[in-house]
Amino acid sequence: MQTMITLIKGDITKMKVDAVVNAANSSLLGGGGVDGAIHRAGGPAILEECRQIRAKQGGCDTGEAVITTGGQLPAKYVIHTVGPVWNNGNKGEPELLAKCYHNSLQLAVEHGAKTIAFPNISTGVYRFPKPNAAEIAIKAVQQFLANDNNITEVYFVCFDDENYELYKEKLAVLP
Ligand code: ADP
Repeated sequence: MQTMITLIKGDITKMKVDAVVNAANSSLLGGGGVDGAIHRAGGPAILEECRQIRAKQGGCDTGEAVITTGGQLPAKYVIHTVGPVWNNGNKGEPELLAKCYHNSLQLAVEHGAKTIAFPNISTGVYRFPKPNAAEIAIKAVQQFLANDNNITEVYFVCFDDENYELYKEKLAVLP
């Protein structure tokens, strides 16, 4: 089945999808940016579940993902993934960023989530160059979707104009 890839400009906490992805940090204890927005809008249940995961496995490594419920969000699940901090690009950052998208989609599939929304992971405080990050995100999602799965819709939710324009350009030229 053909999966729809849709570009949205706005706030990911408003998305009515099966799963929204959070750009978390490895502590899973919340932070600023999209992480702060998700915990604020989703309520304390999400943080409590994150604490339980942390107690069990000691947080989440860069490139990996964990799942909680959506708390009070319209989304059923939150998939928390930890993007790489940009450090000149020679510490495996591109591969780690691609893993965030791949592992988030994998976790969605494992939980029967068919619609998923991504923020622009690592392009805030973690300073990953936006054009580069957009290319990696789109490619990683396309590669995942090329294999058999039940995902029906993937949303790229851009909060800032720069990311939105970049994704618009890059998605327009897709075959
Ligand atoms: P990171 O630490 O991975 O860089 P940030 O949260 O600092 O995470 O930034 C990641 C991206 O999330 C940025 O492009 C930022 O503009 C975006 N962002 C911030 N708030 C929201 C929101 N409510 N919905 C969607 N994206 C958001």
